[in-house]
Amino acid sequence: MKKATEIREAFLTYFEEKKHRRVPSSSLVPAHDDPSVLLTSAGMQQFKSYFLGIKDAEKDFGSKALTSVQRCFRTADLDSVGDESHLTFFEMLGNFSVNDYFKEEAIDFAWEFMTKIMKLPKERFWATIFEGDANAPRDEVAEKAWLKHLPKKRILAFGRAENWWGPTGDSGPCGPSSELHYDLTGRVVDEKKDDGPNSDTGRFLELWNLVFTEYEQDTKGVFTEMKTKNIDTGMGLERLVMVMQGKNSVYETDLYHTLHGAIHKHETFEGLSHAEKETSERIIMDHMRGTVFLLADGVDFSNKDQGYILRRIYRRALDQCDNATQTIPALFREVFATYSEVYPHLKNTQRNVFERAKQELAAYTKILNTDIEKLLRKLDSAEGVPAAIEGHHEPAPRKLTPEKVFQLYTTYGFSLERLTRKGYIFDMSAVQKLVDEHKEISKKGQEKKFGGHGLHGGFSLDDRSKEDVWRITRQHTATHLLHQALRAILGDHVRQSGSDITPERLRFDFTHPKKLTDEERQQVESLVNEKIQEDLEVQKETLETEKALASGALSFFREKYGETSSVYSIGDFSKELCGGPHVAHTAQIGKFVLLSEKSNAAGIRRIKAIVEDTIESAIPEDLPT
Ligand SMILES: [Zn+2]
Repeated sequence: MKKATEIREAFLTYFEEKKHRRVPSSSLVPAHDDPSVLLTSAGMQQFKSYFLGIKDAEKDFGSKALTSVQRCFRTADLDSVGDESHLTFFEMLGNFSVNDYFKEEAIDFAWEFMTKIMKLPKERFWATIFEGDANAPRDEVAEKAWLKHLPKKRILAFGRAENWWGPTGDSGPCGPSSELHYDLTGRVVDEKKDDGPNSDTGRFLELWNLVFTEYEQDTKGVFTEMKTKNIDTGMGLERLVMVMQGKNSVYETDLYHTLHGAIHKHETFEGLSHAEKETSERIIMDHMRGTVFLLADGVDFSNKDQGYILRRIYRRALDQCDNATQTIPALFREVFATYSEVYPHLKNTQRNVFERAKQELAAYTKILNTDIEKLLRKLDSAEGVPAAIEGHHEPAPRKLTPEKVFQLYTTYGFSLERLTRKGYIFDMSAVQKLVDEHKEISKKGQEKKFGGHGLHGGFSLDDRSKEDVWRITRQHTATHLLHQALRAILGDHVRQSGSDITPERLRFDFTHPKKLTDEERQQVESLVNEKIQEDLEVQKETLETEKALASGALSFFREKYGETSSVYSIGDFSKELCGGPHVAHTAQIGKFVLLSEKSNAAGIRRIKAIVEDTIESAIPEDLPT
């Protein structure tokens, strides 16, 4: 039996031998410049700007063929976690071509890896291709490539829903995809009775998705063939390991062995049936992996965005435990032991991760011990009278309005499961709707108001006091100056990889291989203050995105901005695509003070800085928008 570590390594080695460059996984928190998603959910995400032709893969990686194992987190299936296959945290194996090789080679690679390297039986594989529609023709190239390896009857064509990718948003690169499916039974297919891949039988497992981005869709829905064609593939490591180890569930693979052991040691799940126990175990295992990786990538527990997701999974796992103070640290240790080799950034974060998880556990325990009735009375909220249940001695269930449950959930952190277990009745789907709306509003608020910078502890500037908005605005402009100053002092390899601004301070993550010297720190701080003192004008213009990029504006994402973008220039020192708001002239920033500079993850440095008040930084009559 091949171990998961061997399979992961075999994948990367195979593609290295095929002249691919191995690229480390990027953070679970997407770069500042990609606000289209909250968390990294695919291997291609970190290569987007290469696919779009904004960055040069040859220059940055020395190759246009790339391979990676990317840590990913998907929230879409969060509520399904607990069954046999759904995961939030997982690892994605991928090979990528930035206008290098195309379909035929990608298909040959996939086939060779599966059948020669993994030595999986050929007769179990099926492939799917795009059948064609009004916008793009049937993918005959992919079909022909598969015919070299598979009989015609095991190559099926599907429409847009199954075999088409993108664009993300309303325009951008997109194209047909082709999937490799695996027959879990190995039985001979009875063509009269059995269905092939993409049926609901559970017989076929989608293993590998190959995406061929060869079209560009404009906002009017018109497709044109792209000059540069890319390959983007993704295969869930957990699924491949499951197949390789002959298991029925990803949770039975060796990736989860030690986690299982830790749970069994500390939890008995008394009173639960076998099936319920299994569900609880899976929730705990999945959510603990996610918790560790999110914390290690700098996400903190909160009620907004990534922090909200983190809090939700952590508390949901805690809800399954009777002995959390023992179980959780034991699981954390196993996650670190399993992954520190593959993801070296974990090592430095271990202490902080344990500490934050411990604090959150304490906070949650306190909430769980709160008297909900008292809280509800305080909120003057419980609706209706307790329903009398005849012949029943337990406390009668109480009906709560969705709004009240939402409040308990978001403000006080009660999990919906807990409330149900305590005998409260409410309309779960109505609550879920409120939660979704809340998230939607938050997201829009951020995109509209704040470009792509993370706004810590709250999304919308609308919710904030005038003082806070002004402080955030000053620090936002300071962030742009800092970005450019780092590039001027350290070199053009400096790229923003994260940005987070509170009224109190700004935080800026960027790519740089080593610690800044005292002199460099000094120079960066001085340069920013110099530009503040020059009182440069901050100007906004709306440009065609192409032109803005050609003029050297820092930015990375065309699809987010569409055809035109707002570009902020600070004198002729800095130019960035950004949604604002910014100060009108740089003296309004005040004094820039660089507080600290340290390592955040491998190759990523983190700066914390503040702006101090000066006469010029006084709050203006009208805040910029
Ligand atoms: Zn900005």
